[in-house]
Amino acid sequence: MRDAHTHSQGRGLTSPGSRAKLVEELRSLGVKDERVLAVIGKLPRHEFVEPALQAQAYKADLTLPIGHAQTLSQARVVAVMTEAMLAGKPSGKFGRVLEVGTGSGYQTAVLAQLCDTVFTVERIKALSETARKRLGAMGIKNVHFGYADGTDGWSSFAPYDGILVTAGADSVSPVLVSQLAPGGRLVIPVGPSGRQLLKLVSRNAAGAIQSQDLASVSFVPLLAGKQ
Ligand code: SAH
Repeated sequence: MRDAHTHSQGRGLTSPGSRAKLVEELRSLGVKDERVLAVIGKLPRHEFVEPALQAQAYKADLTLPIGHAQTLSQARVVAVMTEAMLAGKPSGKFGRVLEVGTGSGYQTAVLAQLCDTVFTVERIKALSETARKRLGAMGIKNVHFGYADGTDGWSSFAPYDGILVTAGADSVSPVLVSQLAPGGRLVIPVGPSGRQLLKLVSRNAAGAIQSQDLASVSFVPLLAGKQ
């Protein structure tokens, strides 16, 4: 039987109650940053996929199709990547962030709640435009959308305090690393399609670069050119 608390949060599969359950699941999977959990607990993740898939949106380990052979990343992976980036700044708002691979715009929206400005770049025009409209309708204003191949980042607005690449790269592009501000952090999946290692590359205040492996992940590949 449900208690009054659960009941008051709503029972539908796309309700605030399902967001609260997702947050608890992410917590049990080891996500600790309360800033990230709070944002995931508020954002209507189901609005980033087609109506037929919305009931699946709050499962922590599920990728969901978004058309054009692309996917919305698992909630767990969004949380882990965001947490790794934010760990460089334990308090206060994060500054300027670049996301490569806008896709549905869900990760973009998470970042927009936690950072001053988000620059997000996508190589598939239809996805970029849908995400732009979706975030606009949600009243999210601190995001700049770019339609371009972001393999080498977005130099016009560099440097960034954080860079998240949400598609699997062959290697860590030195050009991307060069767009990190001092103290900046790049989170990037590296390896063959579907079997990558999530890497955290950080630049310290003196400019030295350090790299560490975070987790095994499964992303669609980072592709060249526009579509
Ligand atoms: N953050 C997105 C992930 C979508 S999947 C989400 O959670 O919805 C990865 C996205 O990266 C796809 O939309 C794909 O088109 C895009 N992508 C792949 N290679 C790219 C490139 N070189 N530049 C920009 N976007 C790219």
